[in-house]
Amino acid sequence: MSSIPHYDVIVIGGGPSGMMAAGKAALRGRRVLLIEKNKDLGKKLSITGGGRCNILNAEEDERELLSHYGEASKFLHSPFSQHGMKDSWRFFEELGLPIVVEARKRAFPESQKAADVTAALRKYVTTNNVELKRSTRASGFIMKDGQISGVKTNNGTYSADSYVLATGGLSHQETGSTGEGLEWLKQLGYRIHEPNPNIVPLTVDDEWVKKLSGTSLSFMKITFGSSLSKKDGKFSRTGKILFTHFGLSGPLILNSAHSVKKLLDKHGTVEAKIDMYPDTETGVLQQRVLSAFERNKNKLVKNVLNEIAPEGMDKGLIEILPTEFLEEKVHSVNKAERQTLVDLLKAMPVTVDGTMGMDWAVISDGGIDLTQVDTKTMRSKLHPNLFFTGDVLNINRPSGGYSLQLCWTTGTVVGMNA
Ligand SMILES: Cc1cc2nc3c(=O)[nH]c(=O)nc-3n(C[C@H](O)[C@H](O)[C@H](O)COP(=O)(O)OP(=O)(O)OC[C@H]3O[C@@H](n4cnc5c(N)ncnc54)[C@H](O)[C@@H]3O)c2cc1C
Repeated sequence: MSSIPHYDVIVIGGGPSGMMAAGKAALRGRRVLLIEKNKDLGKKLSITGGGRCNILNAEEDERELLSHYGEASKFLHSPFSQHGMKDSWRFFEELGLPIVVEARKRAFPESQKAADVTAALRKYVTTNNVELKRSTRASGFIMKDGQISGVKTNNGTYSADSYVLATGGLSHQETGSTGEGLEWLKQLGYRIHEPNPNIVPLTVDDEWVKKLSGTSLSFMKITFGSSLSKKDGKFSRTGKILFTHFGLSGPLILNSAHSVKKLLDKHGTVEAKIDMYPDTETGVLQQRVLSAFERNKNKLVKNVLNEIAPEGMDKGLIEILPTEFLEEKVHSVNKAERQTLVDLLKAMPVTVDGTMGMDWAVISDGGIDLTQVDTKTMRSKLHPNLFFTGDVLNINRPSGGYSLQLCWTTGTVVGMNA
């Protein structure tokens, strides 16, 4: 054992949370080794925010910020009190990366380049003398008397006083996040919530949706599980929907995926209804349809739909309405037929049959059950020399900078304690 190189801290995984933890620990004077299987650190970080990196969410009210982490918000109270949003902001400004805030408090580097964030963190770890082992894949822990005594890699074995598991989740596996760390923990007896794709587009079976591919509408309401009761998981959200050749995407859909996945697991498919005019009462819509029909009495129904539906949605209506009705002259449309049209404007049916999977997911939910982690230090309650950061933790959250903020917070807390 004596010939094995020994460090104060070994961090496995050179993503944002691992780099943060390694840099902070080294700044405390710890001798740190950072192991990364890719050629370079921060491969996933470099593709975040469509290449712009939504680096944090600038919500100043901590209680409000934490509410976005759902069930984990209580657990995160202590880590955020040690390193919150403002601390991350200051940290990056000190690294020479000014931050700008956009809609919904999403913050980005002023340069609008994720690559600049990755470069700044790479520099942070090297200037703090973190030793790097790149192109080095860890294959598991070495155990002695029930405790972790080393890490096996394809480039040899290393030991340390403390170990940090920062291997990430399972989304976009081409970036290196393949979930190995979670597998090792399972073998050590940890309770791991099965990772599922999250913040991910949904697939649908309906031709009308595919016909609208490329259409994006900024104010729609969608009700998932429309045939169910609230108690059984029916829920509604309002926002932007993007129609694609495979189904539905856009912020509203991505941030609903976690709850939709639960319904999919239970029911196989999920009935949904899209309200094209969430702010408009049915009575007002009835009047609007009537007026449009009065202006266009001699036209065919199919040629008037673009005056009734939001831009592009007329194509969807044409796909879904019976041909006889579409080919009818407007003056011969009866009240019941008009009502069918209004009903569709308020509740266009869609059947969701799945998600686009891990390759398309921004994050995977699931991971280490938080009851096994000490909230003040991010230390394992099962192995006192093991710490956790970032996506390996079972913390669900929406898009908007919340994931990277989690990396800065947990990475810092681990760096201060490992
Ligand atoms: C397309 C996309 C866009 C995103 N955009 C945003 C955004 O704008 N804002 C935001 O807040 N979040 C965003 N996210 C989420 C964010 O990128 C993640 O939450 C974050 O990268 C998690 O960091 P991490 O350090 O925990 O893990 P990761 O970034 O997954 O890093 C883990 C590292 O560990 C390495 N590794 C794994 N196993 C081993 C092993 N056995 N040996 C050695 N190394 C190993 C991997 O190669 C990887 O480099 C986005 C994600 C994706 C996929």
